[in-house]
Amino acid sequence: MTQTAITPDLLALPRKKAGLPNIIGLTREGMREAFIERGIPEKQAKMRVGQVWAWIYHWGITDFADMTNVSKDIRAMLAREFVIERPEIVTRQVSEDGTRKYLLRIEGGHEVETVYIPEENRGTLCISSQVGCTLTCSFCHTGTQTLVRNLTAAEIVGQILVARDDLGEWPVRGAPKDETRLLSNVVLMGMGEPLYNFDNLRDGMKIAMDPEGIALSRRRITLSTSGVVPLIERAGEEIGTLLAISLHATTDPVRDRLVPINKKWNIETLMDACRTYSRLSNSERITFEYVMLKGVNDSEAAAKRLVKLLEGIPAKVNLIPFNPWPGAPYERSDWAKIEAFAGVVMRAGYASPIRTPRGEDIMAACGQLKSETERKRKNPRLANA
Ligand code: SAH
Ligand code: SF4
Repeated sequence: MTQTAITPDLLALPRKKAGLPNIIGLTREGMREAFIERGIPEKQAKMRVGQVWAWIYHWGITDFADMTNVSKDIRAMLAREFVIERPEIVTRQVSEDGTRKYLLRIEGGHEVETVYIPEENRGTLCISSQVGCTLTCSFCHTGTQTLVRNLTAAEIVGQILVARDDLGEWPVRGAPKDETRLLSNVVLMGMGEPLYNFDNLRDGMKIAMDPEGIALSRRRITLSTSGVVPLIERAGEEIGTLLAISLHATTDPVRDRLVPINKKWNIETLMDACRTYSRLSNSERITFEYVMLKGVNDSEAAAKRLVKLLEGIPAKVNLIPFNPWPGAPYERSDWAKIEAFAGVVMRAGYASPIRTPRGEDIMAACGQLKSETERKRKNPRLANA
């Protein structure tokens, strides 16, 4: 049974005080400058940033009053000048397989989705980078929604904080350190094209990886891109997470139809960028995502072409059975076809796991995310639901 739309009581989070900047999402340097501007002596500023940083990102506190090692005066200044604000949970749905989908409200009344996928001894949070998407991949639900806006760094990192709140996963002072994390991995596979929100994404991920804060290793974060070629190399240099490429096709005519950005940067250009990337990143494996669409891209010939395309790239192929959504113009490939495809890729020496669809009953699976407001607007029957 699916449990639907629980409104959690943890929502008693501080509401934004008019116009004050959010302290979440500032880079370390940005916070340091903001502190100096507000009267903290330059010599102290770095140390104060370290303290506040740990309270916000390591301990997960939501009230400046709880920053007990920070002097009273500075706490008062912080409370006067800043807010600690996370996105607000509008609904939380829990799938029969334990997957949790959050609908979050962000500034301006916009809504965005985040999905938590529990696995044995770990858990992955799938976060969004934009409300909607400028791209129009024909098999993707988000792609039917236009771009509303980019998320800020605070909203990107805020999704992780909200999930930690909901999972009750903040350390308890004095308790022994628990090494197993419920939220151990992050994938940028929610709504939006992460590389089209480059600066905010970089700042958000820097915070997620900072050892004195959320402290996720860079190898536990995967950025998925539809193939914004000019920004792939820059992502390697400035962000440094693992990379996944939404390939989905092995010929340009088919990819043009599935992932229209291919008309700008075609398969050859994309694969060249991947070769350069893997040279620069010490041959770290790139994940190639491949959605299995019945009769479109799932033949054995396609699998063989894929193997050829991967030549010279340290790669892994993630086969994603298509996740249907209402009105989608495709069907999921038959299981036997998916396995045959995986077999060809595996025999060529590449790992080719088939991604188990998770949270389908709550429309939380890959490519099914779309903001609720948009859905309701387009479907008047749901307008008052
Ligand atoms: N915008 C980024 C992140 C997207 S979501 C990108 O395109 O890479 C993560 C993966 O899910 C992408 O590979 C995307 O192409 C895929 N996807 C989108 N819609 C899907 C669907 N309906 N079924 C299965 N996978 C889908
Ligand atoms: Fe945007 Fe990615 Fe969906 Fe394409 S697959 S429309 S890039 S979110």
